[in-house]
Amino acid sequence: MIIVSACLAGINCRYDGGSNRNTKVADMVAKGEAIPVCPEQLGGCPTPRQPCEIVGGTGADVLDGRAKVANSEGRDVTCKLVKGAYETLRIATLTGAKTAVLKARSPSCGCGSIYDGTFSRRIVGGNGVTAELLLRNGIKVISETELFAK
Ligand code: SF4
Repeated sequence: MIIVSACLAGINCRYDGGSNRNTKVADMVAKGEAIPVCPEQLGGCPTPRQPCEIVGGTGADVLDGRAKVANSEGRDVTCKLVKGAYETLRIATLTGAKTAVLKARSPSCGCGSIYDGTFSRRIVGGNGVTAELLLRNGIKVISETELFAK
């Protein structure tokens, strides 16, 4: 079984109430090969919501208590993103998922690169909070851009 970001499967869970639907990911879900998960909704974030970014580090720093996640109004939403990461890990464990295909650059789902915390679309290296937690627990994480590169 594979975990996929729900927005890639066409679920309207993105901060602006939309999705990032991708046919290949949606087909994986339709065939029963993948389970759609939105860490931010699982963590208690409403939809739609203000966009959020990791401030002062990466998902690894958030999990280690050295950085926070803030929304575009400056509100601290760290607890919600951390909770969503652990709930996603719980689903991965329950389903035996060993791989996750997650949305690139998201503060939760991003793998390898994320926005830099200034809400200016600048990218820095690092993982989102959920991607980092899954990797720490032995789950392979790739972004949808890597999936389609193969
Ligand atoms: Fe998509 Fe992940 Fe953001 Fe949810 S948290 S909207 S699944 S990128």
